[in-house]
Amino acid sequence: MSARGFRGKMVIFTAPSGAGKTTIVRHLLNRYKKQLGFSTSATTRSKREHEVDGKDYYFLTIEKFRKKISDGAFAEYEEVYQDQFYGTLKSEIERIWSLGKHVVFDIEVKGATNIKHMYGDECLAIFIKPPSFSILVDRLKNRKSESPSSLNKRIARMKKELSYESSFDKVLVNDLLEVACKEAEIMVEAFLNISEEEE
Ligand code: 5GP
Repeated sequence: MSARGFRGKMVIFTAPSGAGKTTIVRHLLNRYKKQLGFSTSATTRSKREHEVDGKDYYFLTIEKFRKKISDGAFAEYEEVYQDQFYGTLKSEIERIWSLGKHVVFDIEVKGATNIKHMYGDECLAIFIKPPSFSILVDRLKNRKSESPSSLNKRIARMKKELSYESSFDKVLVNDLLEVACKEAEIMVEAFLNISEEEE
């Protein structure tokens, strides 16, 4: 398929931190390599050890991030934690469409709501829900990526985020990862009218 002039659709995965959305998103990107492209966000938070700049995120200084805000470069952005900004660059969406692919987002609930409002029916917004709040807290602790103060900030935020469930098109409960991945496949294939084997 020629990518010229291709305007794909969008699938947003949103969830409280630790609900497992990143794992599900990776699974889908791997399964539908030719059809889906990941929207790499820009952020001002520091890079974690295993992360790759330009792949997991574009890691920017606060100054560079602010400059992009004033240049109108973002489709949406949020100060997710104090002094930690995250945003979707308009150029990312265009880049992925120019490859002839649909865009997949892994973003928090407010940004997800904004993208959904902007793109309406072109966009499927899936809220991933943990089986329980305590499981969510355990998962976040097990990840060991947070300092104690950062962990507390994330827990406070998670409580709020869980209340957003009803704002999205679909809710996917991530109890058994394998089942959740399968359900995500079904939702995405139906919305995009694709299958794994598609050329
Ligand atoms: P983390 O620091 O754990 O990678 O991400 C923290 C939160 O920010 C997650 O919920 C993640 O999905 C969200 N996030 C990542 N990129 C963006 C973005 O571009 N915009 C918004 N609004 N949230 C984002």
